[in-house]
Amino acid sequence: MKTTEKLKKYLEKIKKQDKEINSFIELRDEKELMKEAEEIDKKISSGKAGKLAGKIIGVKANINVLGMTASCASKVLENYKSTYDAIAIKKIKDEDGLIIGMCNMDEFACGASGETSAFGPTKNPINKKFITGGTSSGSAAAVAAGFCDVALGSDTGGSIRNPASHCGVVGVKPSYGAVSRYGLIDMCMSFDQIGPLTKNVEDSALLFEVIRGRDENDSISQEGIFNFKEIFQIPKGLKVGLLKIKGVEPEIQNLIENKLKEVSEKKWWNVEEVKLKHIDLAIETYYPIVYTEFFSGTRKFDGRRYVKKIEDACGPEVLRRILGGNEITKAEHGGRYYNKALKAKKIIEKEFEEAFKKFDCIVCPTVPRLPHKIGEKISVEKMYAYDVLTSPVNLAGSCAISLPIGKLKEENVELPVGMQIICNKFEEQKMFQIAKAIEEL
Ligand code: GLN
Repeated sequence: MKTTEKLKKYLEKIKKQDKEINSFIELRDEKELMKEAEEIDKKISSGKAGKLAGKIIGVKANINVLGMTASCASKVLENYKSTYDAIAIKKIKDEDGLIIGMCNMDEFACGASGETSAFGPTKNPINKKFITGGTSSGSAAAVAAGFCDVALGSDTGGSIRNPASHCGVVGVKPSYGAVSRYGLIDMCMSFDQIGPLTKNVEDSALLFEVIRGRDENDSISQEGIFNFKEIFQIPKGLKVGLLKIKGVEPEIQNLIENKLKEVSEKKWWNVEEVKLKHIDLAIETYYPIVYTEFFSGTRKFDGRRYVKKIEDACGPEVLRRILGGNEITKAEHGGRYYNKALKAKKIIEKEFEEAFKKFDCIVCPTVPRLPHKIGEKISVEKMYAYDVLTSPVNLAGSCAISLPIGKLKEENVELPVGMQIICNKFEEQKMFQIAKAIEEL
């Protein structure tokens, strides 16, 4: 299908269905989009098109796209027009990807359900009574609803993988440093990564190939090694570490284990349980670091440069982190909480490194429970616990993918379940190969 035709189809669908789903908070000008789509089609027919030609792309609203609003789904930045492209965006444009609009999200990427957006929650396209998960809620919903081909999200503690799991799409958290963070409005610098949400593994790998790599603007970014063509090789003699932790709904754990059993028998993979001794400390380690860095990062929103002062215009979850961060970073504590959390982070990182000496990958559910209903009151602890299996990967700096592998029933509604495949830092190639092999079954 021509890019122009596809674009028309998507725009129509968005107009009809997105009022309710609320996955996009800003769309680009239609005439401009059409013009660009025509140019892309011309390039395709002359054989000069880039790798992403024909792909229509949604972007999470915390990533700068020149001329669009990088609102972070917050009243604080609702009028902030980006004056430049994030490096990931520049790379997408260079490969002829067509950006259609900005996706809804939890405010400043704080949350796990897609409900903290100042512009209203995103509804799960699979069943609109349920949350999409967060914080890349709009990106996951837009892909699941068929409003675009692929989308970009950001993942600090699970924000790409969690909504991917709840919406039945593929979501990838690249290794820390694999993708430049330049132009991403930070939530927590030490963990943030931009990554793809797509309908299949191949599209995720393609988008990852385009956006990854060393960038002078982001000092922690690294070149890494990745070759898209290699993802079609089926890994042989794989050693898989099956991770079991407390607090996972038994039906979810069973679904993952059964799927893994099925694949490993067919592919002759070796599955053994992996023990990560301190993984139960992940949430307690993650949040002091997040509170500290988020508090520090938000000091620029003091009302002088970006009009509104964040404390006056933000929602309760953002405020909780600012007040909490303010408290634990006070001079009288002498950096105690942050430093202790950094020590625990190192321990968890080491444990993963040790595990990867024995295993090629670690497999577990992406999210320990099924999504709740929109508006249902759940405690802060319960909300934070959505990330027990995803945040350890951010602490370790490894890469992980969430792959839809089946559905489970909640109140007579079938909801998707994602399998998380974790690989060592900068082993995206292997991760995509494994995911592709499982997807093919
Ligand atoms: N739910 C986690 C948090 O609120 C993760 C958010 C994210 O990855 N951006 O911090």
